[in-house]
Amino acid sequence: MSLAVPIAQDNLIELLKGQLRELAVAPAYLVTAPRGFGKETLARAFAASLECEEGRYFESCRCPQCRKVEEGKHPDVHWYGVDEGAYFVKKAAIDDLVRWIGLKPVEGKRKVFIIRDAARLNDEASNKLLKTLEEPPADSHIILLAESKSQLLDTIVSRSFELRMTPLPAAILEELLSKEHGLADEAHFLARWTGGSYGEALRLHEIGFWGLKNECLDAFLKEGPAKFFEGLVSLSRQEILETLDLLMTFLRDLIVFKTTGVVDDLFHKDKLDKLEGLAGYLTSDEILKLVKNLHETREAISGNANQKLAMNRLAVCFGGIKQCTR
Ligand SMILES: [Zn+2]
Repeated sequence: MSLAVPIAQDNLIELLKGQLRELAVAPAYLVTAPRGFGKETLARAFAASLECEEGRYFESCRCPQCRKVEEGKHPDVHWYGVDEGAYFVKKAAIDDLVRWIGLKPVEGKRKVFIIRDAARLNDEASNKLLKTLEEPPADSHIILLAESKSQLLDTIVSRSFELRMTPLPAAILEELLSKEHGLADEAHFLARWTGGSYGEALRLHEIGFWGLKNECLDAFLKEGPAKFFEGLVSLSRQEILETLDLLMTFLRDLIVFKTTGVVDDLFHKDKLDKLEGLAGYLTSDEILKLVKNLHETREAISGNANQKLAMNRLAVCFGGIKQCTR
């Protein structure tokens, strides 16, 4: 069985291999990374390395312990997280963890407890977990997964060994998406939009995000801003915010292209002809003014401002670019 390990995390894996070899494994780890970096994959591979009968670390192995961890059936590797439809990890999950951590391993060498959504521990669950982290049994390891350590109690963070996963450089992710999945312009866009997250890029590819973003930008460029922003009024607040974020990357590209002429780092390299047209037509000051207005409107919308008034205001601010977008 080939062991799945997250890509481009060689430094972290080498560090963990070193700790395993020197029997210096920490009682608690906090794995941090944005969505789609492979936090669960890393935790699973680490758990297999902790349980492996043959002492293989982050390697493919056919021993029964590794197989069970890979299949999610190892009785000493416990996974916790938020139940479907819930917001917080149930206190009952942490009660379960505390009960198991006090017992001997069922068949492995040690017990591993993985909490998928450590940022979603409520105060009661956090405090209960904290007590366990203060005096963990020597045969137990807790692995917390979260997008960022700022989402957790400082007291939990300070008792955990942080493993911060690193993003893939955009050019490498683009090449991977192009080679493995046959994507062209979409690979360029997703590599930059996701900030180097392979998992998130694949998720967005599967839900057809590329088509949606093109539909949105094409409408903006074709209909002209007034009609476009008018059309946004009927959308939900969240959908408006996402659309404004997308437009913000387009304006960011415009200013980068206008001031540097560099095209490789543009999000919307596929819209280069439109960017060229607008860059020739608008001054840098005018573009920066649009950025400022878009930013202020985004803040207002997320602060519950009236959507219709906010969109009307944007239509007026962007009114000046309509000749060029047709
Ligand atoms: Zn093994």
